[in-house]
Amino acid sequence: MVVEARDRVGGRTLTAPVAGGSVDLGAQWLGPGQERALGLAEELGVELFRQHIEGRKLLEFDGELRTYRGLLPRIPMLALADLGASIQRLERMARKIPLQDPMSAERAAELDAISIAEWIARNVRTEAARTMLRIAIQAIFAIELKSISLLFFLHYTHAGGSFTRLAEVREGAQTFRLKGGAQQLSERLAERLGEELRLRSPVVGIEQGSEGVELRVGAGEGGELLRCRYSILALAPSLVGRIPIAPALPPERRLLGDGMQMGSVIKSVIVYDRPFWREQGFSGEAVSSGAPLRMVFDDCEHDASLAALVAFTVGEDVGPLREGGGLAGRRAAVVEHLVQLFGPEAGEPVDYVDHDWSDDVWSGGGYAGVMPPRLLSQVGDALRAPVGRLHFAGTETATRWCGYLDGAIEAGERAAAEIIARLGEA
Ligand SMILES: Cc1cc2nc3c(=O)[nH]c(=O)nc-3n(C[C@H](O)[C@H](O)[C@H](O)COP(=O)(O)OP(=O)(O)OC[C@H]3O[C@@H](n4cnc5c(N)ncnc54)[C@H](O)[C@@H]3O)c2cc1C
Repeated sequence: MVVEARDRVGGRTLTAPVAGGSVDLGAQWLGPGQERALGLAEELGVELFRQHIEGRKLLEFDGELRTYRGLLPRIPMLALADLGASIQRLERMARKIPLQDPMSAERAAELDAISIAEWIARNVRTEAARTMLRIAIQAIFAIELKSISLLFFLHYTHAGGSFTRLAEVREGAQTFRLKGGAQQLSERLAERLGEELRLRSPVVGIEQGSEGVELRVGAGEGGELLRCRYSILALAPSLVGRIPIAPALPPERRLLGDGMQMGSVIKSVIVYDRPFWREQGFSGEAVSSGAPLRMVFDDCEHDASLAALVAFTVGEDVGPLREGGGLAGRRAAVVEHLVQLFGPEAGEPVDYVDHDWSDDVWSGGGYAGVMPPRLLSQVGDALRAPVGRLHFAGTETATRWCGYLDGAIEAGERAAAEIIARLGEA
């Protein structure tokens, strides 16, 4: 049985109707190498189309707007060389981190003792290269760099192939979109479950004994107890940490729940009457070191029936945007930044939708959980280790593409295999 707190399936995927079409306010892209997610889409008959990338890209760098076409923007030559060398060094370091067990890497404790922010401060010489790395990493993790352990960063990027692959659209993690939206993956799976899916059923307490597990579902009079032999908690570790569990989980597991922070992201979709940026030779892709938007992409429907841009506000920029006067305030701030990037035509949207994932109690943030310095060294082993009859899934426990849809599928398959292996036991 699947027990789901919300009135819908899909978790951190959320496909919303807008202006006669549909847009993804949660996960949106798949990429080469994500064999599980690509395989699931195929199995479920969800078609893919390529992210639109044709045209010039925009970089807003310390208030100055530049356009470029290739992978790297036009920044001063010395800074470009510094940036390229720093990325190569990070890629080399990442390749040496074992995916199953990052703590078994050489000098693991040392790598875990500092943040990626400290590594950049010590190793990247030019200010422009530091800024470029900062905005790329914020875009990938949706959290400030001081909150990301260097070892965690290296493991996470290796798990997705490489840092470059995570950052890139073309042949990277942002290559494909799903026709009709990413939430369909869960919706179509849910159709197979019938009565074995319970929506609006938050698990508010768990008790396990030698015979089985009792889940307390819902509070107050409507609450009930569900009994089972084994349970998989397919949640981010910080959400597991919020559920009272008896007997108490081991200290490392509790530390994991307290210490692994979710990123912060507001994802906005801005709808226009036509894709004016395409007409002007722009791809719709923009990266900014300013606020509130860190990056923007073309978000038109595959047949261009809906013209839209999708924009991300991440990390510490989320707070000010959230406090800026409700939906109308957020819309005004996002549109103002888009005008700065794409010109006055961006100022005339026909619709606007967004989702603040940090304000969403059943996700607690997004895109995923991130480990600050020294957490992995203390709790690394606890991430996937079952505790009695409780098993742990969720993208954060994956060894490949952790943080992504693909990782969530790997984790689910692994946890299911663990239970299947135990089903013969008493
Ligand atoms: C804005 C955004 C953009 C993203 N973009 C991409 C992308 O382009 N590509 C990509 O691959 N990934 C992307 N991701 C990440 C991706 O969404 C996640 O990796 C993936 O959805 C995680 O799946 P999961 O099953 O591990 O967790 P979740 O999707 O979080 O599922 C956990 C489920 O548990 C439920 N739940 C929570 N607490 C309880 C409780 N107490 N009782 C019962 N049920 C509970 C939740 O409601 C939820 O349905 C993005 C995420 C966000 C937020």
